[in-house]
Amino acid sequence: MAYELPPLLYDYAALEPSIDEATMKLHHDKHHQTYVTNLNGAIEKHPDLGSSSPEDLIKNLGAIPEDIRKIVQNNGGGHVNHTMFWEIMKPGGGGEPSGNIASQIKADFGDFETFKKQFNETTAKQFGAGWGWLVYKGGKLAIVTTPNQDNPMSQGLYPILGNDVWEHAYYLKYQNRRPDYLAAWWNTVNWGEINKRFAKAQSK
Ligand code: MN
Repeated sequence: MAYELPPLLYDYAALEPSIDEATMKLHHDKHHQTYVTNLNGAIEKHPDLGSSSPEDLIKNLGAIPEDIRKIVQNNGGGHVNHTMFWEIMKPGGGGEPSGNIASQIKADFGDFETFKKQFNETTAKQFGAGWGWLVYKGGKLAIVTTPNQDNPMSQGLYPILGNDVWEHAYYLKYQNRRPDYLAAWWNTVNWGEINKRFAKAQSK
């Protein structure tokens, strides 16, 4: 059974003006599809791995045969990261956080504005392509970044949310202005989904 590109659950233009339609189309249909295609190509060489979820593949990269390990890291990661990315955004999203994640942000960062500022500053500094993440570590929220398509799951951490700062995520609309993209992205976030992910992170 091959891995598949999950359909986008809203229209390509639905996150305008924060994320433009052309970027969404390319990002979902071309970039994410390429990760899925490349992952399937690697798994063909080791069909026994095909019954694993993409998350299970990247959770224990050391168990992946060496000839496809880097391909799985990059493309399995790309598949997992983008699947999450589409789900933690929604049309009419954004605003103040709600539920348990709101209380945890308040406890660990003081307030939402301070958290956002720290997340945006940390993620803006990620050199080259990568992701900024919110993870739950030792009973506290923490902001981390990874290069390329590396996912915190490979380090035993479950990502509560993540923002993609590969240029393909923002260059058409924001060009070199990564901080502007990071600031606008919060207008798309789906706090309901992020709360579900926070509950999962806490249960690990
Ligand atoms: Mn991307």
